Amino acid sequence: MDRQGVIVVTNAAWDRFAAENGYQGGPFVGCNYLELCRHIDGVEGAQATAFVQGVEDVMSGRCAKYELTYPCHSPDQKRWFKGIVYKSGDDLIVMHVDITEEYAEFSRLSGFLARTELIHDLRSPLSAIIGFAEISRGYGADRIDRIKDNLEIIHEAGDQMLSLVNNILTVVLGIARSENLNEVRVDLGALLQGICRQLAPVADKSKVAVTVDVQDDFALIGDREGLRKVFANLIGNAIKYNRSGGAVWVEAVYNASNGIDVVVRDNGLGIPDDQVDKIFEPFYRAKGGGLEQREGSGLGLAICRDLIGMHGGAIQVESTFGEGSTFTVRLPSWRTQND
Ligand code: ADP
Repeated sequence: MDRQGVIVVTNAAWDRFAAENGYQGGPFVGCNYLELCRHIDGVEGAQATAFVQGVEDVMSGRCAKYELTYPCHSPDQKRWFKGIVYKSGDDLIVMHVDITEEYAEFSRLSGFLARTELIHDLRSPLSAIIGFAEISRGYGADRIDRIKDNLEIIHEAGDQMLSLVNNILTVVLGIARSENLNEVRVDLGALLQGICRQLAPVADKSKVAVTVDVQDDFALIGDREGLRKVFANLIGNAIKYNRSGGAVWVEAVYNASNGIDVVVRDNGLGIPDDQVDKIFEPFYRAKGGGLEQREGSGLGLAICRDLIGMHGGAIQVESTFGEGSTFTVRLPSWRTQND
């Protein structure tokens, strides 16, 4: 538009947008944009008035650029736009950019971050670190054993915080999605055995028996660290959401039509029916039957789903509350790599 607000040129997207948003009477070239805005009624009218003020501010040079984010809902669709005004020589350029996707993503993430469980998950290890450091400061050299015990607790709490913060970063910044896969030959049996060896102290402490049944020469092409993360999370969960005397079975099955299935089965707590579909959502933690008493952040499965998706696969779960769960990671058959 020119300095008086008269529209000089529009694009086709503007004509559609104007028609949808109550600007009456096209074609618009030659009309005064500010007058058009002033004739909009209702809630949109209040936004339009604010926008006119912004346009005038840019026109008069009071500011170089003006932006307004506003909702623009139709009965069947919720949308958000950003109106942007800036100077171009003697003229002004006005853009209305559809930011619905970014806006939805932003509200989703800020909603998650506001969840009190997350704050609690960060605060409890942090309180342990501060509390045990304070107590230890009061001990003399003769209490070195107590100090060492407290250092162990502080170390564990620090580890817990670090893994939570790393997981948050992975989800919130979408690192998992943007990272490229480092495709290499992965010996699946060795990978799964290695994970179970690492988790053995936890399994022993909880008195859960873990059995791995994978053919020795079972290899596939994939990102080793990504797959390690996925299976460590699934096997770790199968141990964690279990009872004393319980069991976990890990197996891999190849079938030319289905592809590679890695199955992690447990006879632990199981998941209530109405929550099974939600457990892959970031920060979702199922409740009932003692599930909520286990420590966790609700991020592991969301990351697993992303990583397996990047491998062209999918994760499924079947669960019976009180009896146990079976997680199946299915990878495409072209990923097999058997010599
Ligand atoms: P976290 O274990 O840190 O809470 P996850 O994303 O790994 O997060 O899992 C999400 C939720 O799914 C868990 O909080 C738990 O309620 C449920 N869940 C995951 N694995 C199992 C399992 N093997 N048995 C029962 N519940 C499980």
